[in-house]
Amino acid sequence: MQAGPRRKGGIVEFQMNHKRELFDGLIRLHVLLHAAEEPVFGLAMMHELEHHGYHVGPGTLYPLMHGLERAGLLRSSLQHAEGRRRRIYKITPSGKRALEKARSKVDELYHELHEERPRRLNNELGARETEG
Ligand SMILES: [Zn+2]
Repeated sequence: MQAGPRRKGGIVEFQMNHKRELFDGLIRLHVLLHAAEEPVFGLAMMHELEHHGYHVGPGTLYPLMHGLERAGLLRSSLQHAEGRRRRIYKITPSGKRALEKARSKVDELYHELHEERPRRLNNELGARETEG
């Protein structure tokens, strides 16, 4: 697939790519979530992610969606409309199961993120610090 023009240049893009690893999983979950609701395609998904504050270009999003297909979580087909070919993605049963598992994990993380302090790790370092 052809990567479109880059909208971000230089340092900004470098920093985004650098931090992206942290957000890749969240972006994948967004894609799965929307694919569970309706068939999705790259450009519409890009706009949706933009809405959520993720600036993801085609060079990032398309490989990510291909990856979800390779993992069996999405299935794609080519659709022809108005003289254009468009790759449409739908969630698979395995994708739905993965989404449900992810939902409870995200809930768990959400609660811990919003607690005043996360759970103390059960290790010696933590114990020592509590003593001191
Ligand atoms: Zn969304």
